[in-house]
Amino acid sequence: MRAIVGHTYVSLLKLDRSFRDQMTQPIQPKKRRIPRSPHAKLFGTGEHNPIMRCSVIVAHPADEVVGAGCLISKLVDVTVLHVTDGAPCDMEDAKAAGFKELSQYAEARKRECISALAIANVPQDRILGFGVPDHCASNNLAALTKKITTFLQQSGADIVVTHPYEGGHPDHDATAFATHAAVRLMKKNGFRPPALFEMALHPSKDSKAKVPEFLPGTERETTTLLLDDRAMELKQRMFACFESQRESLQVSPVGPEKFRQPVAYDFTTPPHEGKLHYEWFDWAPRKDEWLALARKALADLFPRKAAAG
Ligand SMILES: [Zn+2]
Repeated sequence: MRAIVGHTYVSLLKLDRSFRDQMTQPIQPKKRRIPRSPHAKLFGTGEHNPIMRCSVIVAHPADEVVGAGCLISKLVDVTVLHVTDGAPCDMEDAKAAGFKELSQYAEARKRECISALAIANVPQDRILGFGVPDHCASNNLAALTKKITTFLQQSGADIVVTHPYEGGHPDHDATAFATHAAVRLMKKNGFRPPALFEMALHPSKDSKAKVPEFLPGTERETTTLLLDDRAMELKQRMFACFESQRESLQVSPVGPEKFRQPVAYDFTTPPHEGKLHYEWFDWAPRKDEWLALARKALADLFPRKAAAG
């Protein structure tokens, strides 16, 4: 006897007569609970997408809006964490934005984020910051990793969206490092870590704009959110909140937004060959300096096995 199982019933053709006669209804196959992949959890919609907790961990205020503003507006339970205060100590950006005090500039950037994220229905108490001075996130990667580990444990995030490791900005790379290392620490200590995603956000060649592209040459499966008119209008309103960043955002595309799951980066090697984008700037570390900081942090965090990130 061989029953042929279809999608909604069991064929009776080959069942023996006595058993077939007892049957009045097609047999419904048991509903199987299909586990939701992290991808389906993040990008799924409707009743099939139960509430999941998402944290967006970015280097600078506004990074989350430029890279993931539309996605954030679609999430029910989201926390945004800014690693730095967005105010470089050299005062150059603060002065350009018309501020005489660094603290006023940092405060203004925080207020701008609160206004922009309110448009995406993110309440103020879900916007957190470590207050690290801008440009300085790489200075103590081990301490940053421990802070992010604590944040992840307390927030109970199922999914984390952060920066890729690309050599675009040392604070972005530091944030990627610390988030990946935090996940590794959680695994090592028996905690269930969140699934990681990374968002496309790379400086343009002239550094004036933030573009929603991953580094060329690292093609992997990518989910692209195309913004319809309504989403474009919403994100433009979010962009308009960033008065101090107007010059940059005016030339930065509003959409689309691109996301992918990261590889297990080796932070002891450069993200790509040749000169990194941030090495064109006086204020940034050299590639070898950044890698030395990463190696030291890995040795501190994972003393027995400091080889990979
Ligand atoms: Zn940034």
